[in-house]
Amino acid sequence: MLLTGKEYLASIRDGRKVYIGSELVEDVTTHPAFRNAAKSFADIYERKRAPENRDVMLCEEDGDTFSAYYLLPRTREDLQRRFETHRRIASWTHGLIGRSPDNFPSYVSGLAMDPAMFDRIRPGFGDNITKYYRHMRKNDIFASHTVTNPQGWRMAPGDAATRTSPTLRVVAEDDRGVTINGLKMLGTATVFCHETWCGNLQPVAPGNEKETITCAVPLNSPGVSIWSRKPYERYARSEFDSPLAARYDENDAAVLFENVHVPWERVFCHDNIEMTRAIYMLTPGHAMANHQANVRFLEKLKFIVGVAGKLVEMNSVGQIPAVQFTLGRLAAMQATLEGLIMGQINCGEAQTQPFHTVNRRYVYAALHWCTNHHAEICDTVRELMGAGVFQMPADASVFDDKVTREKFEAYWSVPGQTAKSRMKLLNLAWDLLGSDFAGRHMQYEKFYAGPGFVMNMYSNSTAPWKSWTAEVDTLLASYDAPK
Ligand SMILES: Cc1cc2nc3c(=O)[nH]c(=O)nc-3n(C[C@H](O)[C@H](O)[C@H](O)COP(=O)(O)OP(=O)(O)OC[C@H]3O[C@@H](n4cnc5c(N)ncnc54)[C@H](O)[C@@H]3O)c2cc1C
Repeated sequence: MLLTGKEYLASIRDGRKVYIGSELVEDVTTHPAFRNAAKSFADIYERKRAPENRDVMLCEEDGDTFSAYYLLPRTREDLQRRFETHRRIASWTHGLIGRSPDNFPSYVSGLAMDPAMFDRIRPGFGDNITKYYRHMRKNDIFASHTVTNPQGWRMAPGDAATRTSPTLRVVAEDDRGVTINGLKMLGTATVFCHETWCGNLQPVAPGNEKETITCAVPLNSPGVSIWSRKPYERYARSEFDSPLAARYDENDAAVLFENVHVPWERVFCHDNIEMTRAIYMLTPGHAMANHQANVRFLEKLKFIVGVAGKLVEMNSVGQIPAVQFTLGRLAAMQATLEGLIMGQINCGEAQTQPFHTVNRRYVYAALHWCTNHHAEICDTVRELMGAGVFQMPADASVFDDKVTREKFEAYWSVPGQTAKSRMKLLNLAWDLLGSDFAGRHMQYEKFYAGPGFVMNMYSNSTAPWKSWTAEVDTLLASYDAPK
């Protein structure tokens, strides 16, 4: 089944509890803090089933029609198809929506490649992951993942005995399933999803086995509430003033579970400190989801570089060699990332037989590159922007009054450019690089896959150290000290 945009919107009018501060939101599809972002997600649902995208983006198997981001790749061509699916989805929002509907399915597709691993955690969990994958793809499910625990509560061994943490944990078990209670961070796009996957990408301390619960929960389940951070869409005065915040604020939210019952069929790990994290790395799940994230970043990078080019045009500085060097550096950075992503597809690997999945080392190198270069790229483009944005009137109300509108056009325009067109571009650039919305993006690109030092660890743990050091050993063995 493939939801239309309208059906998607109807499906999230489901009685979920979303809070903005103390305000309980009745309908996220019509509320001024969320409605345009909801429409952006609906557009993705609509466009992925449109005739011009079907060849690439839709698959059929076992009587199901589903999105290509559920395709379990067996060849290089399958990887190319997944790449193009992610690329088109990201391009529709200029890479500004990180947790689009193709993100979490990439995790689940990778996890579902190894049901036997889940059965080793507990017999039956393998069947659970297979069925969950099928449920998601059959019903066109949009899921977020909340796999981070509240800051300040990642306890050392032994703390569990003396402190009660608000971190999500199992508080009861029965024949039908488990009851969970507590808080999970940070569910990007959860406000707009059908379900969330709770788990742990960070270590859980021994003694806290009940926190290792990994399960999927519909967001309208009794006891679930979603606590939004400040929604930038609400403060976007108009599309002209804040064109990105007005459309693409995917939202981030803490998710609270108060004695929520989860049936065993939706439990994938329980009472297992090691496996609650390891499931993502021992399967292609983590690499496939972060491949999507890399492709999404590439589309955003093209957009940022495009804005740089427009700013240079606007200020008529493109003939200055120093500016050309700057643009050349940005273009080289974009090509570097694109090449790294091509390597993920062209040098795929057989991590889990019989599947052919993206090259993990190149995924982690790209993740490392993106995390470490995003702020520098933004800073470069801010430098090209100069102070132009602060030379503009406060907001689009300048056009409401004949006198202010005419004065603005008379004094702020330059030959070949209206004052309005300059203000429009500068508002866009500021929303991309300097506004509240942009500030959240700075933090997102630093943290969405974990803190910076973890990016180094992914590259360290997947590197072929043995073969590199063996080569050194071979050379060392070829000579000795003089006798
Ligand atoms: C906008 C945004 C969206 C996000 N979306 C999601 C999402 O959809 N799902 C999800 O599960 N999570 C999401 N996250 C959360 C993300 O996974 C975490 O931010 C990340 O894992 C880091 O955890 P933390 O924020 O608790 O930082 P902490 O773990 O508290 O770390 C903060 C800083 O402390 C220092 N530090 C801490 N521990 C160490 C250490 N061992 N060694 C060295 N330095 C250390 C580092 O400087 C680190 O950057 C999102 C985060 C942001 C900002």
